[in-house]
Amino acid sequence: MSIKKKILEIVPPGYVRHETHDFGGFECPGCHGRGFFIEYDRRGSLDIPCGRCDGSGVLKATVSVIWSPDARRENRRN
Ligand SMILES: [Zn+2]
Repeated sequence: MSIKKKILEIVPPGYVRHETHDFGGFECPGCHGRGFFIEYDRRGSLDIPCGRCDGSGVLKATVSVIWSPDARRENRRN
Protein backbone atom coordinates (compact mmCIF):
# COMPACT_ATOMS: atom_id res chain seq x y z
CA MET A 1 0.00 0.00 0.00
CA SER A 2 1.34 3.44 -0.90
CA ILE A 3 1.78 6.16 1.69
CA LYS A 4 1.43 9.84 0.80
CA LYS A 5 4.36 11.74 2.36
CA LYS A 6 5.27 15.39 2.62
CA ILE A 7 8.97 16.25 2.76
CA LEU A 8 10.73 19.41 3.95
CA GLU A 9 14.22 19.91 2.53
CA ILE A 10 16.35 21.76 5.08
CA VAL A 11 18.53 24.43 3.45
CA PRO A 12 20.13 27.33 5.36
CA PRO A 13 18.29 30.56 4.57
CA GLY A 14 19.93 33.95 3.99
CA TYR A 15 19.17 35.93 7.14
CA VAL A 16 16.23 34.18 8.71
CA ARG A 17 16.91 32.47 12.05
CA HIS A 18 13.49 31.00 12.66
CA GLU A 19 11.04 29.66 10.12
CA THR A 20 7.84 27.67 10.30
CA HIS A 21 6.17 25.51 7.70
CA ASP A 22 2.62 24.18 7.74
CA PHE A 23 1.76 20.84 6.22
CA GLY A 24 -1.95 20.18 6.16
CA GLY A 25 -4.36 17.64 4.84
CA PHE A 26 -3.31 14.67 6.97
CA GLU A 27 -6.17 12.32 7.68
CA CYS A 28 -6.95 12.31 11.38
CA PRO A 29 -5.97 8.93 12.81
CA GLY A 30 -8.35 9.41 15.73
CA CYS A 31 -11.53 9.36 13.63
CA HIS A 32 -10.03 8.01 10.36
CA GLY A 33 -11.00 11.20 8.52
CA ARG A 34 -14.70 11.10 9.39
CA GLY A 35 -14.52 14.01 11.83
CA PHE A 36 -17.01 12.50 14.25
CA PHE A 37 -17.98 9.44 16.21
CA ILE A 38 -21.47 7.98 16.37
CA GLU A 39 -23.03 7.32 19.73
CA TYR A 40 -26.27 5.45 20.10
CA ASP A 41 -28.84 5.81 22.82
CA ARG A 42 -32.56 5.04 23.22
CA ARG A 43 -33.58 7.99 21.06
CA GLY A 44 -31.27 7.17 18.14
CA SER A 45 -27.79 8.17 17.06
CA LEU A 46 -25.78 11.25 17.86
CA ASP A 47 -22.68 12.56 16.00
CA ILE A 48 -19.92 13.43 18.46
CA PRO A 49 -17.18 15.66 16.91
CA CYS A 50 -13.66 14.24 17.13
CA GLY A 51 -11.72 16.12 19.80
CA ARG A 52 -8.40 15.59 18.04
CA CYS A 53 -9.32 17.30 14.74
CA ASP A 54 -12.26 19.38 16.03
CA GLY A 55 -14.54 17.62 13.59
CA SER A 56 -12.61 18.52 10.43
CA GLY A 57 -11.30 15.01 9.76
CA VAL A 58 -7.84 16.34 8.91
CA LEU A 59 -4.77 17.49 10.85
CA LYS A 60 -2.05 20.03 10.16
CA ALA A 61 1.61 19.74 11.20
CA THR A 62 3.54 22.92 11.94
CA VAL A 63 7.31 22.37 11.65
CA SER A 64 9.53 24.97 13.31
CA VAL A 65 13.16 25.33 12.20
CA ILE A 66 15.54 27.37 14.36
CA TRP A 67 18.95 28.14 12.90
CA SER A 68 21.94 28.55 15.22
CA PRO A 69 25.73 28.25 15.02
CA ASP A 70 27.10 24.70 14.99
CA ALA A 71 30.58 24.88 16.52
CA ARG A 72 31.26 21.15 16.45
CA ARG A 73 34.33 20.53 14.31
CA GLU A 74 33.11 17.21 12.82
CA ASN A 75 30.18 19.00 11.19
CA ARG A 76 32.34 21.44 9.22
CA ARG A 77 32.82 20.97 5.51
CA ASN A 78 36.33 20.24 3.98
ZN1 LIG B 1 -10.47 13.37 14.02
